[in-house]
Amino acid sequence: MKSRWSEAEAKAAVARYAKKGVNADLALRVYTTRLLGQDPRLVLHGGGNTSVKTRMRDTTGEQLDVLCVKGSGWDMGDIEPAGLPAVRLEPLRALIALKRLSDEDMVNLQRRNLLDSTAANPSVETLLHAFLPHKYVDHSHANAVLALTDQPDGEKICREVFGDRAALVPYVMPGFDLAKACAKVHAAHPNVEGLILLKHGIFSFGATAREAYERMIRLVTLAERRLKESGKKTVFAPARLPKRLAKPAEIAPILRGLLAMPADRRDASWRRLVLTFRTSPAIRAYVNGRALNRYSQSGTVTPDHAIRTKPLPAILPAPKAGALDQFAKEAKAAIADYQAHYRSYFKRNNPKGRAAKIALDPMPRVLLVPGLGLFAAGNSAKAAGIAGDLAETTVEVVTAAERIGRFKSIAEADLFDIEYWSLEQAKLGKAAEKPLARHIVAVTGGAGTIGRAIAAAFKAEGAEVAILDLQGTALDDAARTTGAFSVACDVTDDASVAAAFARVAERFGGLDILVSNAGAAWQGRIGELDDAVLRQSFELNFFAHQRVVKAAVATMKAQGTGGVLLFNTSKQAVNPGADFGPYGLPKAATLFLSRQYAVDHGRDGIRSNAVNADRIRGGLLTDEMVAERAKARGVSQADYMGGNLLGREVTANDVADAFVRLALSRKTTGAVLTVDGGNIAAALR
Ligand code: ZN
Repeated sequence: MKSRWSEAEAKAAVARYAKKGVNADLALRVYTTRLLGQDPRLVLHGGGNTSVKTRMRDTTGEQLDVLCVKGSGWDMGDIEPAGLPAVRLEPLRALIALKRLSDEDMVNLQRRNLLDSTAANPSVETLLHAFLPHKYVDHSHANAVLALTDQPDGEKICREVFGDRAALVPYVMPGFDLAKACAKVHAAHPNVEGLILLKHGIFSFGATAREAYERMIRLVTLAERRLKESGKKTVFAPARLPKRLAKPAEIAPILRGLLAMPADRRDASWRRLVLTFRTSPAIRAYVNGRALNRYSQSGTVTPDHAIRTKPLPAILPAPKAGALDQFAKEAKAAIADYQAHYRSYFKRNNPKGRAAKIALDPMPRVLLVPGLGLFAAGNSAKAAGIAGDLAETTVEVVTAAERIGRFKSIAEADLFDIEYWSLEQAKLGKAAEKPLARHIVAVTGGAGTIGRAIAAAFKAEGAEVAILDLQGTALDDAARTTGAFSVACDVTDDASVAAAFARVAERFGGLDILVSNAGAAWQGRIGELDDAVLRQSFELNFFAHQRVVKAAVATMKAQGTGGVLLFNTSKQAVNPGADFGPYGLPKAATLFLSRQYAVDHGRDGIRSNAVNADRIRGGLLTDEMVAERAKARGVSQADYMGGNLLGREVTANDVADAFVRLALSRKTTGAVLTVDGGNIAAALR
């Protein structure tokens, strides 16, 4: 591992932050914290922290010794000075005299001594930083170090590798006790460059930002060299697997369905999880290993992963191609087994009396699938992504550990203490979820004005959104502006639709709500019309709806947790306009289609509804068309667009809002919601 320190960049950081009133100590702290945080081999998702001891003025103008230490919620890779809140140093140091300190009291004391009371919570490892005498202290969960210490004889290996450069600290849960243990070990070895926290990570320190950072790099490089010494080529002897395997996208909805938990039995609602699929040659070598049952069931590579991934992943059967029913049966048994083990793990470790914990749901967050790779799960795509990143790191560390020996994690009771950390338990139930959190939505025609509005409206309610549209700059632009996942898709093509749904399944695990919105207008007088025009319009305005909805229903049925189908129809479906036959006819059929799905798939818990909108600028109606039609009718553009009972223009956002409302109306199916500002001639009978 190479040092990325650059004298020029360091100077530039000092100059840049000086303009904002930030002192050089803190500016350099920001600079090297970023260097560490940008390397996933060192730091991943909050798995590390840094500090600097400096002097600052409080509001009275008095100069104080402070510790600027990483605040929770900040990512080291792009941290700013505000992400390193200043805490008065002396009151922190005084705590070393205490025998015991609860996590809650520790957090309270840290907050009480913040210079800025509105700052982020200082890291749980703040006291460890405070008790060490060095000006700069860096902490990471470097993969290479973990691979050395996560061994039955990790202590011996580390002693050989690091010699007098680093002292070893036995495993203690992060918090006050670990801070004291580290201070004690350091006092006994005052000349070391760092501390190796067995089965947890590494601290380095120094008088300058550069010294602390480069000591980290040097110590991690020693670990990397030791890992390279093994001549072992194949780490995991492979298990026998079926010759032909099912595809990840085929099994994703099955797994997502198995992970869903009933939320309210009265209206068959579910507490779903969002999934993400990960694979690579390294992941496949790991999940295909004959001894997967041993090395994957030891525990996490560093304790704090347990909060995101749970202590253990689930192991699923290898899915044989063409035998999805068999896979579903075996996967169901595997997940039931996982839950039973999780419940007994909870019972075994849960303290009695007042210290008793609230049980978390028993569903796995990482699922290993021999032959394919792994799925990670979370209550949002973001959480699933973090669990996925941690699972990939686990593969890397365990592979490195098994190359030189045997991977071994901390004891089950220690893993429980982390997963059921009182500070984490205190957060439970506090963050209210949005109504469509944990739901996956796909919007066809997602790059258009209405499609974008729909994507934004569903995102605002907490849903994970995929927008499907023809490949091109409009799709890229829509993805950028809405933050939705974009998938190139031609809804008139079977293979393209199948590929798009597979991508959504790999990205999110399945689908709960489909907004079938893609469409285009064709015109022509019906008695003089070329059949080809009518057929073309039917292809997009009817058959494409049928194609995507059919694919969505297949996914929803594989999940077994119901679903919502939403169709964008048009006023033309009920109130034909002159020379608009080619558009209105397929739209009328699509309105009927929406009801047919309600009739045929209500028994699957799938609801089907339509929105019937009129005159949306930017939809199929361009600005030129608005001008043209207003002129033809001899009215102003505003009067043309607001030509309804309310006298107000209907916008894409109004249409999007109607789709969201239908998605949320749990007992509504076979309905059409009209969004046209009022038009009695077009009212449904
Ligand atoms: Zn740590």
